[in-house]
Amino acid sequence: MALQLSEFPEQLRAEVQRVRELVAALHAELPRWELVVWTAGNVSQRIRCADLIGEDLFVIKPSGVSYDELTPEKMVVCTLDGVKIDDGTPDALTPSSDTAAHAYVYAHMDRVGGVVHTHSTYATAWAARGEAVPCVLTMMGDEFGGAIPVGPFALIGDDSIGRGIVETLRESRSRAVLMQNHGPFTIGTDARDAVKAAVMCEEVARTVHIARQLGEPIPIPQEQVDSLFDRYQNVYGQKK
Ligand SMILES: [Zn+2]
Repeated sequence: MALQLSEFPEQLRAEVQRVRELVAALHAELPRWELVVWTAGNVSQRIRCADLIGEDLFVIKPSGVSYDELTPEKMVVCTLDGVKIDDGTPDALTPSSDTAAHAYVYAHMDRVGGVVHTHSTYATAWAARGEAVPCVLTMMGDEFGGAIPVGPFALIGDDSIGRGIVETLRESRSRAVLMQNHGPFTIGTDARDAVKAAVMCEEVARTVHIARQLGEPIPIPQEQVDSLFDRYQNVYGQKK
């Protein structure tokens, strides 16, 4: 039996509404930064409520709804099993087809508060070749702490995409992974942080691609990458 929103404590119902509004608004960032076409792409954010109802939830985009029609009311609230809760919205409003991948990430990486998936052009072009974006820009050291890694080829339908994301990102400081032949997934402390990682991932994939057209980009020594990452995360960490 699905969890009932109407039975949640008042403070949790208010939090669900706040996160619906936030996630709906953040979806507008994907077309704004030219990361998506048609209805592709999705943003989600975890609601930490295990102390109230025994488990966390997350809010994600509905499946097949165009960006112009996304409203807070249309956002879908799911358990970490990827099952939609009973929140009074129509059954026809089903969660994004990538929900299982988001759910797997939340269930297996407690520090993650937001997840974004797009097929943004340059990042996806690297994914199509199965090549990590090498760390040749200081902004990559700042944001990702090194190269943007490639995750395994995986098809939608079970938890293999989620597993591939988690296994790749656990081994890396990067908040972005390029799933081979598919596209980028990014994580963050919240949905906004994951959207920022998606924007930055596309930007560096584009810049390094252009650099490659002109010659061989110069790698940044690991020691310098480490100091860029430490400084950015510690000095600028509050401002993300
Ligand atoms: Zn996809």
